[in-house]
Amino acid sequence: MPIAGSEIVKMLPGKRPCKDCGFPTCFAFAMKLASGGTTVDKCPYLSEETKAKLLDLLAPPIKLVTIGSGDNAVKIGNEEVIYRHEKTFVHSPGISLLISDKEDKAKIEEKIKKIKELQFPWVGVNLEANLLALYFESGDRNRFLDLVKKVYDSTDLGMVLISWEDMDTLFAARDICADRHPLVYPITKENIDEAIPKIKENPTPVGLHGHSVEELIPLTTKLKDAGIEELVLDPGSKNLLEAIRDQTFIRKAALKQGFKPLGYPTIGFPCFMAKDGLEEMLVGSTYINKWASIIVFSDFNQHSLLPILVQRLNIYTDPRFPMAVEEKYYEVGEPNEFSPVLVTSNWALTYFLVSSAVEATKVPAYVCVKDAEGLGVLTAWAAGKFSGDSVGTFIKKCGIEDKVKHRKLLIPGKVSRIKGELEDALDLKWEIIIGPRETTGIGAFLPGFAKQLKE
Ligand code: SF4
Repeated sequence: MPIAGSEIVKMLPGKRPCKDCGFPTCFAFAMKLASGGTTVDKCPYLSEETKAKLLDLLAPPIKLVTIGSGDNAVKIGNEEVIYRHEKTFVHSPGISLLISDKEDKAKIEEKIKKIKELQFPWVGVNLEANLLALYFESGDRNRFLDLVKKVYDSTDLGMVLISWEDMDTLFAARDICADRHPLVYPITKENIDEAIPKIKENPTPVGLHGHSVEELIPLTTKLKDAGIEELVLDPGSKNLLEAIRDQTFIRKAALKQGFKPLGYPTIGFPCFMAKDGLEEMLVGSTYINKWASIIVFSDFNQHSLLPILVQRLNIYTDPRFPMAVEEKYYEVGEPNEFSPVLVTSNWALTYFLVSSAVEATKVPAYVCVKDAEGLGVLTAWAAGKFSGDSVGTFIKKCGIEDKVKHRKLLIPGKVSRIKGELEDALDLKWEIIIGPRETTGIGAFLPGFAKQLKE
């Protein structure tokens, strides 16, 4: 919360609780405004000056920036806390693959194919890298613009456009893909005056580069004064130590001190900092922990990318809510009317382990996942969210009775005690089978059970 309701109320008309904002008093409106539950324009009696002041005070301490468009838009920033356990981190960093225009055609094709194909289904979500960074390195303007066109035509991904030497080419590249909202990088103290009119011609996010955090401050101030606010910061960290120092400084200045000139998301370049692939991944991993909002890698493969994506997922899930999957029955393989039916809770990890264990047996089956507010089976049972009654109600309504001819339901061994209650809840039409206590037991249990069902 950037400003408290008790501070906002001092800026409101107050003299007449007219309720035109939909709240009984100015104080109620102020409290709601502070928590993000309403908007400044709902009070029609604010002066333009007060409105502007309130909008500024209520803006998130780290600006929201969007790179890319449509389903592939990568939103970064808008963060409110330094440490995840204080509330949650909001927007996970964009993972970007660097393509230099110096690379040969085959390598470029390979990288484009790679970013499209390296996707990992993981506990109900799809993990993938989501940005391409295009680097003007060859000195050949046409070659770089051709690369930008090629990537624009063959992918829907957001882009980071990088040109250190040639600003005209950088903005020409921006014009090719402006509707994709690319990040234009770098704007520096040397080129900022020349860049401002070009940025304003066709506004998209811009990446600022400084040789230190301090060098960024006049740059962000100048751009903000020019009305350019979709900014991403690069403090020019040259090694891991500097990266940790700079990221920490920027995050704390923005969130603890409310220092607006550093209230923007950041970008990190492990691709330019590391000696080899392993070091690059370690630097990238540190950037995930240390709040970078875009992380650019020179290359990756499935073995190096997957741990990075899982780390990002783990850190950017909301710690206040367990990861959960939707309540319904899931098909594993191609089950038929004689296939086993298992029931479990909707903690994403439980579902992932059970469905993976079933898949490994190669026995097609139905896995019925009951909403237990994202808790594991035993915890859910202890909390009254996996009782015989509630599981029975779910089985009746989920549609599984139309999918199988048999009436044998496999329940986790750990909650065998719900058997009687579940049979009653299912009107004694189902036979309740006590399954293994752990998912590791499914492999030994399921094939024999499936054979019995067929017979
Ligand atoms: Fe107060 Fe404005 Fe709401 Fe009226 S509309 S009660 S003046 S906040």
